[in-house]
Amino acid sequence: VRPEDLQDAIKGMKAIGIQGFNVTIPHKTDIMPFLDKIDSLAAEIGAINTVKLEGGEYVGYNTDGLGFVKGIKEQLQSSLADQKVLIVGAGGAARGIYYSLLQEGARHVDIANRTISKGEQLIAGKTSETKSVVFSIAEAEKILSEYTLIINTTSIGMHPNINESPLSLKNMKPLALVSDIIYNPLQTKLLKEAANKGALIQNGIPMFVHQGALAFQLWTGKQPDTERMRKIVLTKLGG
Ligand code: NAP
Repeated sequence: VRPEDLQDAIKGMKAIGIQGFNVTIPHKTDIMPFLDKIDSLAAEIGAINTVKLEGGEYVGYNTDGLGFVKGIKEQLQSSLADQKVLIVGAGGAARGIYYSLLQEGARHVDIANRTISKGEQLIAGKTSETKSVVFSIAEAEKILSEYTLIINTTSIGMHPNINESPLSLKNMKPLALVSDIIYNPLQTKLLKEAANKGALIQNGIPMFVHQGALAFQLWTGKQPDTERMRKIVLTKLGG
């Protein structure tokens, strides 16, 4: 759908009774004024990736960040509330993850970003008691040993720039869990370094699978087979 046709496309889908659909770049934010209702988490995030027809009205949801949270909980060894979290990046993916972590009870989530003002804008909508501080990348690198969960949401390290890494792990605790939401390559330079230092690692596949599974659940009320989904995604990505 071309951006100038977005409103007409939504009217058309509603007219023929389409029960739900996914939304992706470049429409995730621009679609919001054309929907009838926005779920509260999606409103905080400021972006939509899933739309569902409810009582004749299109309702906008965002399952990206909740998909991340579902995936990371599978690998965390203690509760989310007990983690001291660092999100690297402050773009669209970081917004989804930040507000979903807050909704799921995270008590301390800091941001490190190249452009500090973007990090400050990201946390400005926070209404919970969660503690959040915005750092430069260099500042975060110095205090990295404080974090138990480190999440890269920048595109640094993504194909074809596979020899780049968003931050130095020199001061990281070996017991940390390091997540990189990139899935091409399946193991980024950051994740290789983290694994070499003894950290647990997670790539972008669990988030990708779970955001889709949550959308499917919203539309159908059924829990899909996420293990089968994971295998199919890995096959398609050549992993
Ligand atoms: P975005 O909105 O464009 O944000 C990009 C972020 O990366 C910003 O914080 C930006 O910093 C930072 N950045 C980019 N290039 C940089 C550089 N050279 N040096 C320092 N910082 C840099 O992008 P997005 O939509 O959030 O997506 C980010 C990544 O997440 C992509 O790789 C995407 O594929 C991945 N992703 C994965 C999933 C999944 O399901 N696994 C879902 C969504 C996205 P500034 O603020 O300073 O510009």
